[in-house]
Amino acid sequence: LNLPWLDAPLAAVLRRRDEDRLPHALLLSGPRGIGKRRLADSLLASLLCLEPDEPGRERGGCGHCRSCRLLAGGAHPERFEVTFEDDSRQLKVDSIRALTDSLTLTTTISPRKVALIHPAEAMNRNAANALLKSLEEPPGDAVLILLSHDPSRLPATILSRCQRLHLELPDAEQARAWLRAETGLEQAAIDEALEAAAGRPLLARELLEQEAVGGLGKVRRALAALLGRPDAIGRCAAALESIEAERLWRWLSTAAADLLRSRLAGTNPGWDIPAGHLPAAPMARLQQQADRNRRLADSSVRQDLLLREWLLEWARLGASRN
Ligand SMILES: [Zn+2]
Repeated sequence: LNLPWLDAPLAAVLRRRDEDRLPHALLLSGPRGIGKRRLADSLLASLLCLEPDEPGRERGGCGHCRSCRLLAGGAHPERFEVTFEDDSRQLKVDSIRALTDSLTLTTTISPRKVALIHPAEAMNRNAANALLKSLEEPPGDAVLILLSHDPSRLPATILSRCQRLHLELPDAEQARAWLRAETGLEQAAIDEALEAAAGRPLLARELLEQEAVGGLGKVRRALAALLGRPDAIGRCAAALESIEAERLWRWLSTAAADLLRSRLAGTNPGWDIPAGHLPAAPMARLQQQADRNRRLADSSVRQDLLLREWLLEWARLGASRN
């Protein structure tokens, strides 16, 4: 599962399975972006697995039995899922009816059938009524896993028939450690993303990934176009002006460091610049200057002047194209 804050909830459900006290319907609730879906997938794999006592069940099944292999291939006949099918953003009654019909079939592979319904609050009224019948007279060997970020929108009749497992936000230190291991980024970037994601680690990672492809990519493209073109500084500065100063200096420093590393290792930096032709010493100075400027981001020093000065040095790294 590799989401340490969900180890305990997963273990709790598996313990109920071991004690033969598994509920017919389980409602996993909790905020978006903490891993409900990942927990549900692990749980589903563990509940279908044919070697439930093998080590690895906390990761979601043993990984090698027939059930685990069918799941990995996306073809397990006892795994069901109801979710959005089109743009309607509703779970419809036909999908729920098709599910409840399937749940009456006998199993052929696994000891039980498992269905995911998500997001459960998107069931329309007819869908909820159709599901209710299944919850009132559940097929003996079926487990329904409902996921919801907003269980208050579920009908009370559904809520009262589900065993509820509410997932909490991980504590800040746990979330930080996980993000550090996942992204390899420095503390400042991680703290910023966690704050923007209100403490939800998977959402924070998504933000960091978007930032990496969006923001840093933009900075790299602008820098690549500027090499050897001191006359293009105005255009480059305009392309970067929407980026908040502290973040921009962090990215400029990262870009210079990447390039310097590639230059010294004789490898390709992975973006559109021939690092091998650039002088190492001024590149190192530019990286240090970007770090110094970052510390001035909140000061009264004029950022536009600092940026132009830095970009001019950068432009001069490349052989003149004029
Ligand atoms: Zn297995």
